[in-house]
Amino acid sequence: MPRILQNFIDGRFTASDGELVSVYNPATGQELARIPDSPQSEVDQAVYFATKAQKSWARLAPIERAVYLRKISARIRENADAIAKTVVEEQGKPMPLAQGEVAFACEYFDYMAEWARRIEGEIISSDRRGENIFLFRQPIGVVAGILPWNFPFFLIARKIAPALITGNTVVIKPSEETPVNADLFARIVQEAELPSGVFNLVYGKGQGAGAALAGHRDVGLVSFTGSVETGSRIMTLAARNITKVNLELGGKAPAIVMNDANVDLAVNAIKSGRLLNSGQVCNSPERVYVQRKVADEFTAKLAAAMQAASYGDPMGGAPVDMGPLINANHMHKVRTMVERAVADGAQVLAGGSAVEQQGGHYFQPTVLAACRQDMEIMQKEVFGPVLPVNVFDDLDEAIERANDSIYGLTSAIYTSNFSTALKACDEIRFGETYINRENFEALQGFHAGVRQSGIGGADGKHGLYENTVHHIVYMQQ
Ligand code: NAD
Repeated sequence: MPRILQNFIDGRFTASDGELVSVYNPATGQELARIPDSPQSEVDQAVYFATKAQKSWARLAPIERAVYLRKISARIRENADAIAKTVVEEQGKPMPLAQGEVAFACEYFDYMAEWARRIEGEIISSDRRGENIFLFRQPIGVVAGILPWNFPFFLIARKIAPALITGNTVVIKPSEETPVNADLFARIVQEAELPSGVFNLVYGKGQGAGAALAGHRDVGLVSFTGSVETGSRIMTLAARNITKVNLELGGKAPAIVMNDANVDLAVNAIKSGRLLNSGQVCNSPERVYVQRKVADEFTAKLAAAMQAASYGDPMGGAPVDMGPLINANHMHKVRTMVERAVADGAQVLAGGSAVEQQGGHYFQPTVLAACRQDMEIMQKEVFGPVLPVNVFDDLDEAIERANDSIYGLTSAIYTSNFSTALKACDEIRFGETYINRENFEALQGFHAGVRQSGIGGADGKHGLYENTVHHIVYMQQ
């Protein structure tokens, strides 16, 4: 009988009345644990205790809150191997990537702890004699974090570290696909003796616990990472109470490869980005635009590199570049998108097929040539190891095609010409642009999308301040 995970509310692991949902290892199909689909009453309880704890948490000096963040990162480091193993088992990524994810989460807590002495307001000159105008940054209250499954442990850190340091308390709902690492995190919180109610965890499905949190009257900010469709539903739920939302949604990142690019560097960066986490990364290259003169060389090298990539059970013994996709439904989605692209004229240069082995659902690293801009494969997020390629003649054309998307998260250009890079940065309408390097954000940057890729963002100073509200005070002498 697999373990049944319990919600963590007000500093205690609490049994739930919710129906149980099974969690599987995507590489083997083995059942790993069961979680409750927590009912509204339990979500209410978590929000109630988070609200109650928030007042005294906010009264601590930020530097006192930072001590807890550092304690948490220290405990994560001590338990890093067990956490990474859990992430591999429930999410399916290779061990080095899971280890990197856990290490990045530690750095995230430490980085946000450093902000304790840097949370600043403003003093504004007044039109009236003897008056001072003070602008304070204050906590929002209770932050609800609703998480996806692709970087489940890192996303706990990304949601809660900036919320806690700025004086908020949190309720987290992990994805029903990857909840086990959140249980390990709750144990760390307990060991770090974080005051009760400051961190709460409720399990459940999106339509149940997720929707209950998003539509909760006492939640001050719904911080969500996931798909555009769910983001839109969450906005609707939050609108009931005019609750602020922070949405980090999907992407369809264009990679533009110019004639003057270092072709080998571009091939390597685009391939690595697309294979990372089996292509299940919001910022990874999703479509390639290559200039005509280097198109044949680039496409042949990209196809060879993708063809050479290995995949399989990350716990199977031999190291692999890529693990399985998260589940059978997702594999079906990727397969049918590739089939439709081929039926619409795309030419398979590498991969192209789904592979079922030992209970895992894989999709071969795939390169599709002869893709037109109007094809679904160039317009919709695939979230799998598939790279459609389109050939262009001049930069204006490439920028126009790159911008022709409902998404606007990340983008990339490969060129040795400084002016070309600058022009692209000026004209490309995306939240992030990578020049001559793989797509991956830094914790001191600002990860944010435009158009349907989201509202607000995470990381750095700007991500930190997403968790605050302004309070303006007019003081007459
Ligand atoms: P998803 O939208 O299916 O689910 C995300 C979370 O939302 C889960 O916890 C789910 O239970 C919950 N949810 C589902 N329906 C809900 C509802 N009606 N109300 C409240 N909560 C609900 O996303 P996913 O499949 O877990 O993740 C993949 C998607 O996430 C991709 O589109 C990817 O691009 C995106 N993503 C974006 C970023 C980013 O930083 N922009 C990072 C990672 C993933």
